[in-house]
Amino acid sequence: MGTGTINENLARGGLPSASKMTQIVHCPASFQLNKDELPKPSSDAANEGTMLHRYMELFTITNGNNATDAHWAELHELESKLTVEQRTTVEYAQDKMIHLLNNFKSRIGNNLVVDMQEYPELRLKLKDLHSNTIMSGKGDYLYIVDYRAFVVDYKFGRGYVEPADRNYQLAALAVLVKQNFLNVSSVEVHIIQPRAQEYDRRITSAMYEMADIAYANEVIQKTCKEAIEAEKPRQEVGYWCQFCESKYRCRAAQLAMNEQMELVARGIEITTDNVRDIFDKTKFVSSLCADILKKCNDVVKANPDIETGLYFAKNPPTRSITNSLRALEWLENKLGRELTIPELCSLISFKIGDLEKFFIKEIKAQLPDEKITKKTLSEEFASELKTLGLIEYKPKADSLKAKG
Ligand code: SF4
Repeated sequence: MGTGTINENLARGGLPSASKMTQIVHCPASFQLNKDELPKPSSDAANEGTMLHRYMELFTITNGNNATDAHWAELHELESKLTVEQRTTVEYAQDKMIHLLNNFKSRIGNNLVVDMQEYPELRLKLKDLHSNTIMSGKGDYLYIVDYRAFVVDYKFGRGYVEPADRNYQLAALAVLVKQNFLNVSSVEVHIIQPRAQEYDRRITSAMYEMADIAYANEVIQKTCKEAIEAEKPRQEVGYWCQFCESKYRCRAAQLAMNEQMELVARGIEITTDNVRDIFDKTKFVSSLCADILKKCNDVVKANPDIETGLYFAKNPPTRSITNSLRALEWLENKLGRELTIPELCSLISFKIGDLEKFFIKEIKAQLPDEKITKKTLSEEFASELKTLGLIEYKPKADSLKAKG
């Protein structure tokens, strides 16, 4: 099952969708990978987007002649739920949409508007040469007069959206309109993004004439065919990966990220002037990452029945002898003889800390009246074993520590 809500997936019929076209054109392999993802629980942002889109749809319907009481009631109910900021957002979208539409109408001549067709949220399907459906998509608003079409797509997020003239979703919508309304020979597409940070990104537009539509159709048909049918579709990493639901398990993206990190590491110039600063920052990031990884670990552990794409790989259990004396008895019985002291010692490796503790405890027990400190005994222990060559000191690289 693909990502998105179950209803959205049903509507798309498990086929590529216009809204994913940028990602699929660049990386057709992502289509099959995304299809295997489990539906995600709806986020607050997605719920808000759905509500604002529905509000805009109802706005269009109630401005037309086919609005029912139910439409008006739903519009008023949604209105009562909007925050001040959301209300400003939809009002901006309404104003700009009306302005763009009026502009479109005046350019084509008001007299033609009589034969217009208007469709809010109409899902269209794209067919290949054999009449197989290969893609679907819906513009938020479609208006057609004679051979000219006008499409608006609302984006209610704040993030970067490719402008209409470079946006594959809008190209796909132009192709869909052309194939479903044969008379149409020019499609004007607009993106309205009221919350875009940069003012000039809030409305972007493009015009698709016949030659543009034919070229876009060729690209989209080829892409969808490859995405749906190819055994090894093209896979390409790029900025589109940030929106790919499968990025967490995509090897190509992970390898590219590792390469990027190596490049960054190689490119950082560390000198005696900045070494302390870079050291502090890196320590901070590495402990931050360790904390985040621990949190990931906790979430997966606490939700064993939920598919997250992560799992705990089974490690073989560690082994240890629970009773050394009984194990020795077992071995001697089995061998039919007692072990010699050198044999016994070759089996046992003393941990220096345990031996030191044992030594201190025993000496203190033997000399209870002497005020002999642990530190003295510890020094005696180390010095005598060192003299006898029983302690081996292996050099270890020094750790880099920050002063102060
Ligand atoms: S993460 Fe990027 S490269 Fe990997 S499948 Fe998704 S879009 Fe393709």
